[in-house]
Order: sequence, then C-alpha cells, then structure tokens
Amino acid sequence: MQTSDFIQALPKAEMHLHIEGAVPWDMVQAQARLLPSPPPWWATDYRFDSFRHFADTIRQCYESTLTSIDSYYSAARGVFKSLADQNVRYVELSFSLGHALSRNLPLTEIVDAIRQAAPADLTARVFCGVSRSRPHVLRNKVIEAILNPPELDGVDLHGDENSQGPAPFVDLFAQARQRGLATKAHAGELAGPQSMQDTIDILQLTRVEHGVRAIEDEGLMSRLITQAITLDMCPTSNIKLRVVENIAAHPIRQFHQRGVRITVSTDNPTILGCSLTDELHLLVERFGFSLRDLAQLQSNAFRVALMPAAKRAGILAELDGVLARPVDLWRN
Ligand SMILES: [Zn+2]
Repeated sequence: MQTSDFIQALPKAEMHLHIEGAVPWDMVQAQARLLPSPPPWWATDYRFDSFRHFADTIRQCYESTLTSIDSYYSAARGVFKSLADQNVRYVELSFSLGHALSRNLPLTEIVDAIRQAAPADLTARVFCGVSRSRPHVLRNKVIEAILNPPELDGVDLHGDENSQGPAPFVDLFAQARQRGLATKAHAGELAGPQSMQDTIDILQLTRVEHGVRAIEDEGLMSRLITQAITLDMCPTSNIKLRVVENIAAHPIRQFHQRGVRITVSTDNPTILGCSLTDELHLLVERFGFSLRDLAQLQSNAFRVALMPAAKRAGILAELDGVLARPVDLWRN
C-alpha cells in the first residue's frame, strides 16, 4: 500500500475550515474574472505580506460569490463534495457573521443551507464565526440572532488576535454554552502564548484553532497536555501567513510527540491552494510523521467531534481496522 492509498483509505476529519476561504474555484472565477488561474497564492513558496494582505485576498473570493442563501448552498455543496471525495467523514465549517450581516442574510437560512448541502456520508457541523475586530456588533440583539438558528452547532472567534482580546466575547460564549453549543477560538497564531492563555481562560475553552505559538511557553504546553485541550492546526496556513519562518520551523511534530492533542486541517483551501490530503502528505514528507501518526491525528479529531456516540465508535473502529492492516509502511 502506498502512502497516498493509505491517506485515501483513512477516514478523515476537517476540523478547521472557513467557507469564505473555501468557495470552490469555479464559483470564484465566474465572478472575479480578472483573477489569474491558477492564482499566485497557490504557489508553495507564496507568502502573504501581512494578515491584512491575507484578509484582502480572501475577500476577493467570497465578497462577490457569497451573496445569497443559494450561493452559500452552492459553495457548501462544492466544498463537501471535495471533502467526501477525499474520504472525509466529518467537517466543522464556519461562516463569517460580519459578511452575513453586511449582506443582510438571515443566519438561520445560512445555517440551514449549509447543513442541507452535506451528503449523507459526511457529518457537517456549522459554526458562526465572530471577528475579534468587530466586538461592537455584539449588542444583545446580535447575540440573540447568532444563537437563534436551531441547526447551529457552535461559535468560533476569528480574526486578528492583536486587534482585540477575548473579554468582549464572554457573554456570547457563556450564552452559547448554556444553550449546549460548542465553542472554540483562534488563538496562539498571530499573537503569542499569553494571548492564547487568556483566550482559553476567559472564554473557558477546550478547543483552540491553531495554537501553534504555545510552543514558546512550557507552562502552557504542560497545561494543554494535562487538560487535553485540542489544537486544530493548519501548517500550510501558518507557513503562508508567516506565523512561522519556514516549513522547518513549524513545531507541529513537537506538539504531537509531546502528547498535545492536535488535529490537522486546511483553514482556507481556496486561498492557500491545499486540500486535507495535501496537508497529510506534507506531514509525512516534510515533518516525518508516520502513517500511524496520521491515524492518531484522525482519532484525536473524532474523539472531540460533535457526533453521536455510536457513529464515533464506528469510525474509531474503522480507524483501528486501517491501522491493523499488514502494511510495510509503518515508519517510526
Ligand atoms: Zn482559521
């Protein structure tokens, strides 16, 4: 069995995905005809100048495409098809509150459209993404609107950590938890370990998107391990946004070896030019992960996935089955 066959056979989970950065390329091209194809950002050695540059680039892909409820459905349909083709069984997808409000689109209808776009063999969970740089929108009426969609699964804090700490989002996160919703936040990406520590404490999190800069703080690393806090990491995203200096400097292997519960995802595949399969190949080819390690990452993901216990048990058993196959590729 080749590495690529193994990766395809592995039941996978995409834990960290923004629909704005995942709009299928044919939808983007139909609206933004002036963009070259392939765009320069897909090159392996491409680096964004700054988070602002990245945010401006991503806007070119969603501003003219995610304009109606139907367009959310079409985009999600394309995203989910690509994931299902890669044998991805579970996805947590977020949509931007700010963009939805700017377009006056009802959040309940967005959530329903995304949920309805999922094929039967893919469990899709929908998160409302709230930007750190727009805390002023969080009036009570807006919090109520965010938490109102019956099919919403959770809330996620997005955006530039340096623009705003977590304090303005305490009420939203507390109310979300009270209603049984999942909560997670981006942290330890554009700012250092203190920002990540504060975000975990103030918003009472067990899930962090990225979290890569925890490596700078031994105390935080120990805490991640003892409290089983899950980090949904995206190495290509960190490399292209200059969170790390280069591929060799990315500490994802250290997190895994030290026993931090990490998962791997794409973040914004249309902007970053990567698929989940690409990310898993990258782990093997550039970071020295064994195939057993890849299976462990999927097991990490399904253990925290929002799915019924019987379904989770079935997939974990399937993962065990893939690992039990007699292959000569178990390195390390
Ligand atoms: Zn993200």
